[in-house]
Amino acid sequence: MLIKNQIYETVITDYTSEGQGVAHIEGCAVFIPNAIAGERVTVRIEKAQKTWAAGKIVEILERSPHRCNRECPVAKLCGGCDFWHMDYAEETRLKAERVRNCLNRLGGEALTEIPILSAPTCHGYRNKAQYPVSQKKGRAYAGFFRAGTHDVVENKRCLILPEETDAVKDAVMDYVNQYRVTVYDEVAHKGLLRHIYVRRGVVSGQVLVCLVCNGDKLPRVEELLKRLERIPGFTTLVLSVNTKKGNAVLGDKFITLHGPGYIEDTLCGLTFRLSPRSFYQVNHHQAQRLYQAAISQAEITKEDLVLDLYCGVGTITLAMAGAAGKVIGVEVIPQAVADARDNARRNGIENAEFFCGDAGQAALELEKNGVHPDVVVVDPPRKGLNADTIEALHRMSPRRIVYVSCDPATLARDVALLKARGYSLKNAMAADLFPRCSHVESVVTLVREC
Ligand code: SAH
Repeated sequence: MLIKNQIYETVITDYTSEGQGVAHIEGCAVFIPNAIAGERVTVRIEKAQKTWAAGKIVEILERSPHRCNRECPVAKLCGGCDFWHMDYAEETRLKAERVRNCLNRLGGEALTEIPILSAPTCHGYRNKAQYPVSQKKGRAYAGFFRAGTHDVVENKRCLILPEETDAVKDAVMDYVNQYRVTVYDEVAHKGLLRHIYVRRGVVSGQVLVCLVCNGDKLPRVEELLKRLERIPGFTTLVLSVNTKKGNAVLGDKFITLHGPGYIEDTLCGLTFRLSPRSFYQVNHHQAQRLYQAAISQAEITKEDLVLDLYCGVGTITLAMAGAAGKVIGVEVIPQAVADARDNARRNGIENAEFFCGDAGQAALELEKNGVHPDVVVVDPPRKGLNADTIEALHRMSPRRIVYVSCDPATLARDVALLKARGYSLKNAMAADLFPRCSHVESVVTLVREC
């Protein structure tokens, strides 16, 4: 076991899934933030367990050519991004490697390389932000949580957000400080404003502002609107009522205070209505490229029935509708299903149907009713597919399964389960939808063997 507070010399060999550097000292894996593979460093051990330890760099003895000065002044404190200390080439290399390693280790593959769709820019790409609010010495401020805590680090200008989004935050905080709107304190479970949620359509320019409150009324709404109306594209103001303790950002009740309560945006040539609760990929440009990759891997024909499980507002479902005979989407959030149906209608798509429910249960039910899709697309949350979904895929036995994933470990686990049920891996590709952050997306295709 390594000794706490002792300093060791080591070489960084790898990265964790959160983007920390990994070194091995005396058979023990040591996790070291802000480290780059290949660097020789001295590290102080801060936490020591039997098989692993956590440490901090004391000195970089051999600096990686990929190391660079952090453009973001709060990068070291803010828990939002992970990679401002390295260049983008190293970031995309490590992301593609993570997907490849997972598929090899957990998915039983022997891939030598995986391509990655790199992003053209690391700046201003996020179309959504959720700022927690806090206060110090009577002044309220907003920012992002420090990694692993609920301390809010003030961030005047977040580099991965467009300027309009930060302008909304500033306008709301100006109103909050001027009219002494109380700020939520999670320990005391008191105070009104919890989060400022902003979503901006990249193509439409429309801006949705949703204030998450521990209550159902905001004081002096007209003063808030006066400030928001100065922001280009401001379209709607919604109050989300969240009076529960815990980490969930949005509440269950939404009250529209101004405008329609949703915004629109264009993706893959289609118009989408987006409510605060609906999932919408945060990187518009890269999402389009990811969906195009998924569509081309699906190899759909005009006779095909396509099932899109975990379909959100129907982005992939509707983007595939033109090439298919019929498309069916399944999604668990009722508001997203309502958006998906509305999106089909507003785009004049008549061969799409949407069901609200758990993906696995709905798929089993569809199968029982004789629905046998030719192609199934799945795009689950990080936990991946549940047992019902795997079983339904097995019984439905589609020709192709296109799996869009935001977690390579659960993707690889599910690939192994599907391989055991007669499928083999055809294509695998990583996509960077979150430059400077450790998340990585991927899309793979599984084909039925006979
Ligand atoms: N394919 C869509 C959405 C992907 S995100 C897009 O790219 O825009 C994953 C979606 O799965 C979310 O909309 C989430 O609400 C939904 N979801 C989560 N758990 C689910 C479940 N058990 N059954 C069906 N949908 C689920």
